[in-house]
Amino acid sequence: MRKLALALAVLLLAALLSGCGAKQITSDTLYVHKVDGLPEDFIFGMDASSVPSLEASGVVYRDFSGKEADVFAVLARAGITHIRVRVWNDPYDSSGNSYGGGNCDAALAAEIGRRAQAAGLKLIVDFHYSDFWADPSKQMVPKAWAELEPEEKAAKLYAYTAESLETILAAGGEVAMVQIGNETNGSLCGETGWTAIAELMQAGSRAVREVCPGALVAVHFTSPEKAESYRDYASKLAYYGVDYDVFGSSYYPYWHGTLENLRAVLSEIARSYGKRVMVLETSYAYTPEDTDFSGNTVGAGDERIAGYPFTPQGQANAVRDVIAAVAEAEGGLGVCYWEGTWISVGQSSFAENEALWEQYGSGWAKQCAGSYDPEDAGKYYGGCAVDNQAFFLSNGTPLESLKVFTLVREGNSPAVTTDSVLDAALQFGVGEEIVLPGTVEAVMTDNSRQDVPVSWEVSAEELAAMQRAGAAVYTVSGTAGGKPVSATVEIVDANLLTNGDFETGVLEPWRLINRGTADELFVEQKATDSLDGSWHMHFWSSTQNRVDFAIEQELAASLGGEYRFTVSVMGGDCVDQELRAYVLVDGQEAASAPLTISSYGNWDTAELRFSCREGQQITVGVAVKTGGKGSGAWGKIDAAALNFLG
Ligand code: CA
Repeated sequence: MRKLALALAVLLLAALLSGCGAKQITSDTLYVHKVDGLPEDFIFGMDASSVPSLEASGVVYRDFSGKEADVFAVLARAGITHIRVRVWNDPYDSSGNSYGGGNCDAALAAEIGRRAQAAGLKLIVDFHYSDFWADPSKQMVPKAWAELEPEEKAAKLYAYTAESLETILAAGGEVAMVQIGNETNGSLCGETGWTAIAELMQAGSRAVREVCPGALVAVHFTSPEKAESYRDYASKLAYYGVDYDVFGSSYYPYWHGTLENLRAVLSEIARSYGKRVMVLETSYAYTPEDTDFSGNTVGAGDERIAGYPFTPQGQANAVRDVIAAVAEAEGGLGVCYWEGTWISVGQSSFAENEALWEQYGSGWAKQCAGSYDPEDAGKYYGGCAVDNQAFFLSNGTPLESLKVFTLVREGNSPAVTTDSVLDAALQFGVGEEIVLPGTVEAVMTDNSRQDVPVSWEVSAEELAAMQRAGAAVYTVSGTAGGKPVSATVEIVDANLLTNGDFETGVLEPWRLINRGTADELFVEQKATDSLDGSWHMHFWSSTQNRVDFAIEQELAASLGGEYRFTVSVMGGDCVDQELRAYVLVDGQEAASAPLTISSYGNWDTAELRFSCREGQQITVGVAVKTGGKGSGAWGKIDAAALNFLG
């Protein structure tokens, strides 16, 4: 009976935890590898700083069924636990115009905190301690503090932090974590010396401890691929006694090294200093396309860097792997995504979008931000550079990938299908038969790789024309696994011979016909004696009149037409020379030219032109017969090439 009662209690608890009857998040298509051992309180954060400015611009967010919905409720339902919000001191010009970028001051953070709280979401407050964007390239001091010494600045920073947090708390936000700076790689608030940086951070930390005693204090750096820098930051923080709980890192898969490195670096800091660690910013593109007429930080081609396709499934797999890396790290606390709600303001032209960015501050920077940040915002102000990394389509509908934050706990294994096929890149010599591959590599929804059959939309006649038309680059379209794919076919003026330069280090597939008894007759590596590369065919005989050999190789002509055979020789101490380059077509001599050995470093090149029909057998060769003088006849053969001329 007791066992039964216990089982019933567990079932009841499970029902409560699963959302009090709310329909569970499921997916018939999104593949999610389970992350083992994920703690119940693992943080799944989402930066949503731009939401109010986007909504003011007319953006409407929707739920998974496409119905208009509160975006914070949608995020909460998908498994997000925390909302991250950036806070700028005074993001306004002297006329009171906002700089844009979501108009993120403390009042806006309070509004976001209130809405997040209503949806059951906690808040991560990200103080930049600047009037606009702070990152490793810029940590500009707020205008009002510009003239202050570090000590006065720290006092102001303390008061500002306390006051801002009080504003957020008063609005009802539940502050779970506070960042005392954003990507503060060696500078903060206009200061670059660690004494000042640590003093400022400590002032911020003290304010957090006093106003939000239950909140974690986080520091935030970026570029974990530079592990030595991370060790340095952590050791400086310890040396100066900065009071913090969480060592946070950005991790953008395109720029920040491997996940294994991330895990190792964070683990080392957690272990060495007894801290929690987390990824405070990450993101991945669901499409290579821009959606708001304002250029993006990543696009077509960049998916090759991290190896996940730019699809919603690729985005989910990328995020899942970041979650796994942090979960496996010692002290791993959570992962926060930047900034999955930042989508296009949705108009059909740059001009219409720009009008909204300028009116509501929903782009990354307004023109007037140039008065504070002339070098970046002043030059490149505009819309959103990460709209293709959002978790919502530009019409506000959440992507299936957003469900990763729920499904990662137990995993989700629908039938594996082709998610993306990799374009092929092929190269052929002029005249070489163009053979397109029968399969292309596909990335499957579970992120595995498979070769899938492909059908190319090109006729045999078109391929034959490409083969004959000389050096050029073509793009051939096709379909594989139900997805479009393309092959780049590059036709180059290629050497049709194999190992014409002897660089493989062996003679094959050249055939040696040795009629003499030279002392040395082999492929030799010596760059200074080679015409190209470092290998060539070498001969030498101390005894006179012993050098008498030929090397030749053959191939079938894939095209009828004119060809050119070239080959070069160099050497010395040869007398009574009978050297020649030759070409046979179906065993009959088609062309021949003498070659002469003179002295060291003086290469003699034979150039033979000939014609043949498709399928005929071409034999190219060099015959060497020579007497010797001095210390004996010697020579080198190199750079043999056969080109189809058309
Ligand atoms: Ca954009």
